Amino acid sequence: MDENRLKLGFGLMRLPKFEDGTIDVEQVKKMVDLFIEAGGTYFDTAFAYPGSEEAIRQALVERYPRDSYTLASKLMCSPDMNSEEEAKNEFNISLERTQAGYFDYYLLHAIQRGNYKKYEEFRIWDYVKQLKEKGLVKHYGFSFHGDPELLKELLAQHPDVDFVQLQINYADWENPGVKSKENLEICREHGKKVVVMEPVKGGILADPIPTVKEIFDKADPDASYASWAVRFVASQEGIFKVLSGMSSIAQMENNLSYMKDFRPLNEEEEKVIEAAQEAIDADQSIPCTGCRYCTEGCPMEIPIPDIFAVENRRKGSPEFRTKREYVIVTTGKGKASDCLQCGQCESVCPQHLPIISLLEKCRELED
Ligand code: SF4
Ligand code: SF4
Repeated sequence: MDENRLKLGFGLMRLPKFEDGTIDVEQVKKMVDLFIEAGGTYFDTAFAYPGSEEAIRQALVERYPRDSYTLASKLMCSPDMNSEEEAKNEFNISLERTQAGYFDYYLLHAIQRGNYKKYEEFRIWDYVKQLKEKGLVKHYGFSFHGDPELLKELLAQHPDVDFVQLQINYADWENPGVKSKENLEICREHGKKVVVMEPVKGGILADPIPTVKEIFDKADPDASYASWAVRFVASQEGIFKVLSGMSSIAQMENNLSYMKDFRPLNEEEEKVIEAAQEAIDADQSIPCTGCRYCTEGCPMEIPIPDIFAVENRRKGSPEFRTKREYVIVTTGKGKASDCLQCGQCESVCPQHLPIISLLEKCRELED
């Protein structure tokens, strides 16, 4: 596996976009150049990231020799998928979109309690092993959002997986819904290398709550909030790569500034992180990362993450402004009160949020 010295991986889920929603490929090219110049090699896309595979073809595959980088992609069995063929064909589409010839890393995407049986039903584990035998995939693994018991089960059933991708960040370290620490320990026990996703929790920790900002500002006013988050995960034992879903040249430059010559957290800095964890535990905000996995299958087209973002901004904001924001995000879409409580969203939420009851609370924004 790619043990290149730069532990940072370039996550391609949140690439820079123009106002019309299309990806700014020229900016992505500059980000790719900066990343490679700093010794980066690991790029992480997925079938399910709109436009990402095509963008990385233009920004990377068509511009650099194939052996100078490693590319990861993922196969997602979405809840509304009806056939094995449809699922398996995602691999061919990903290869076609990227023109990469093969994937260095290939993952079963976002496995958790609500969907893992679908991957078994469609025999995706065997399929990916066959792709590896054919040389179309060099290493295979899975990205995981489930509980430790399920992780143990999967590693026992599939002992030859090469790596596991886990959500790890200081806010979720001991979060009972995510259990970052416990899942990492299980992977270590099974001798599996770990790729980290969401080290900045979908951007939340790059702009954390005021109490956390205060703690970090006091400890080191020059360090970015994201640097604390990324360095925390990169300092853990058994971490192979830390993915950061970068959306701008500025974010790339910032990440490279502390990851190029990576220095693990020292004892004093670990204490600062502990204080930040305590401040987060005391906070009541909804920890939604805005991944939008929940919105795709919602029969009422409720913009769940946008409603949660309005709810989170409610504190300290005048009531009329919050209500206006709520009207803006829900116009032409479903409202919190339209929820049918079907549970589709909760079955796919990687953060295991009790979306139905949270939406009930958000109904107050409609009064
Ligand atoms: S439970 Fe409510 S919000 Fe969730 S998918 Fe069903 S209707 Fe949409
Ligand atoms: S509610 Fe869950 S699935 Fe939906 S955007 Fe937030 S974190 Fe993602």
